[in-house]
Amino acid sequence: MYCPVCFQNTLKIRSNGVVKLVFNGKSRNTSLFTYNLQKETHEQLLAKLREKIVDWMSFYSEFANKTPIKNFEAYSADFICTNSCKIDMVSTKVSVVNLIYSAQEVTTLLKEEGRKFNIDIEVRFDN
Ligand SMILES: [Zn+2]
Repeated sequence: MYCPVCFQNTLKIRSNGVVKLVFNGKSRNTSLFTYNLQKETHEQLLAKLREKIVDWMSFYSEFANKTPIKNFEAYSADFICTNSCKIDMVSTKVSVVNLIYSAQEVTTLLKEEGRKFNIDIEVRFDN
């Protein structure tokens, strides 16, 4: 991935950090979880993602006018540039889709849980 400061392909995700989720531009203060790529298996990381998707959907399913979820973001600010750049991670949010999770896994998970909560999923990830 490209570093926003030096523009080299030197941006790497930290082995542990926080992933935040945003649904149609909205989020709950519970829509985040920690990850540790060295200690957790992919299945454990998927279970955490599912848990937080369920948390948001169970909240959103109470709404009277539910619009389909067209935009889903899972991003982290826990990245480092191997050139030691100082990166403003408040404004730099890097998607972990196609990084920690495949786009296919995320889409499948959203659709599975969306079906349970009667929430339509129209998410498309660009590759
Ligand atoms: Zn850099």
